[in-house]
Amino acid sequence: MPAEITTLLTFFGGTGDLAKRKLYPSVYNLFKKGYLQEHFAIVGTSRADLTEEEFHEMVRTSIHDSIEDEANAEEFIAHFRYIKLDVADKDGYADMLALNNELDAKFNLKGNRIYYMSVAPRFFSTIAKLLKSEGLITENGEFNRLMIEKPFGSSYETAEQLNNDLNEVFDEDQIFRIDHYLGKEMVQNIAAVRFGNPLFDAAWNKDYIQNIQVTLSEVLGVEERAGYYDTAGALRDMVQNHTMQIIGWLAMEKPATFTDKDIRAAKNVAFNALSIYDEAGVKKNFVRGQYGENADGTQKKYLDEDDVPADSQNNTFVAGRLQFRSSRWEGVPFYIRTGKRLKTKQTRVDVVFKKGTSIFGDAAGLDNPVLSILIDPVGGIDFKINAKDTTTEFQTRTNTLHWEVSPLDVERTPEPYERMIHDAMDGNGSNFADWNGVAIAWKFVDAIQKVWDENHEEFPNYVSGSMGPKASDDLLAEDGNEWIYK
Ligand code: NAD
Repeated sequence: MPAEITTLLTFFGGTGDLAKRKLYPSVYNLFKKGYLQEHFAIVGTSRADLTEEEFHEMVRTSIHDSIEDEANAEEFIAHFRYIKLDVADKDGYADMLALNNELDAKFNLKGNRIYYMSVAPRFFSTIAKLLKSEGLITENGEFNRLMIEKPFGSSYETAEQLNNDLNEVFDEDQIFRIDHYLGKEMVQNIAAVRFGNPLFDAAWNKDYIQNIQVTLSEVLGVEERAGYYDTAGALRDMVQNHTMQIIGWLAMEKPATFTDKDIRAAKNVAFNALSIYDEAGVKKNFVRGQYGENADGTQKKYLDEDDVPADSQNNTFVAGRLQFRSSRWEGVPFYIRTGKRLKTKQTRVDVVFKKGTSIFGDAAGLDNPVLSILIDPVGGIDFKINAKDTTTEFQTRTNTLHWEVSPLDVERTPEPYERMIHDAMDGNGSNFADWNGVAIAWKFVDAIQKVWDENHEEFPNYVSGSMGPKASDDLLAEDGNEWIYK
């Protein structure tokens, strides 16, 4: 049994889709594994009128698929309480305070509090402010923490405002900004592969690496999310957060210890060295796309999707070249690519190593070794290396060493949300986005968005089911490179 964590965990948005699909099942798994035993309580809150019984039934339904022992599930559910509260209603927080105190006494929670904001982002600041003014931050607790859903702002300016609001109540080390990509097993594996193998650790720099590629491709189109997506685009929906957080693990310095403080510091050395582009830089280093119909016309183009304005300039595809002004990465392009309606759903990192000078003669045909970290949908690692071809002449060819996460490992892998709730309870911020990284990512993305807003582009410019516009391939070709994943 692991050591028990003592806490009150309050879910704002406690009747929402995320709470039901991810958050309650995750907390239940932590209970089954013994991280939560006796000294915990969960409060769900929202505007909905629900009796305690109805709320318990909702939680029961949400954890249904992972119940193995009914009595154990009921023991878990007995720790749940519901309170109706409009988050903007100041007076309602007094009832929540009373409930917190009652639960604290009942379960001996030692004043420990975690507030999870699973509501629309426009409420984040209000909730933080009222938690403080209405006395819901404890003085006696070992900790008061905030877990906050995405998106964290919609520009640098709005993100900074939100961050300032949160900082009125919580210090940076009390804020756990969720980016569920950081909770993914294979994203966490980047650090294991890089720092766990001196071979890669020593070669993780401009002397050995030619370029690094990060691909997050989706097959689906905008579906029912056009209202939001048309104001965000791939750049703000995927690049500012997930892509940049993956880049953080790849580009970071080696942390002195594997603790959140050192990991953040090491990532920030990289983030601080990222070139923020001016107009010419954006035009040279970034391309945008918007999907058209597929080849046989059975899928709509973006402009014909429901709720998309007919003249929308929104980007459903982004590819770009990132550059770091550091001695580690000088001259090494980091290419990123993400978009909707692409050929396959794929999240992966391809680290392209430099080609050696051949001692075998030109005909031997040495190629670039490539380390591919496969994140989704199937986790694994491919390592393409040069080896001998089976010919009489001494020639080489590449062979790929392949490892795939086993079904047993898949089964044992915690859901990102389970891991993140665990880590926040444990006070470990390693797999959360810190403010400096978020701020730089916004400045980087805002600079690109500004140029795109000021320049008209002819859309659509890629066929649904392809890997994006030709300009994305041209971008790499300019450097004599090509996408590893085609
Ligand atoms: P949702 O619309 O399903 O749920 C929203 C919740 O907020 C409900 O419980 C609702 O009752 C409550 N609520 C709304 N207005 C309120 C008010 N004035 N006072 C109190 N409660 C109020 O939303 P969701 O999909 O659960 O998403 C919640 C958050 O998580 C959002 O920030 C979203 O961006 C983020 N998120 C969701 C997902 C997902 O898969 N659903 C994934 C990533 C991030």
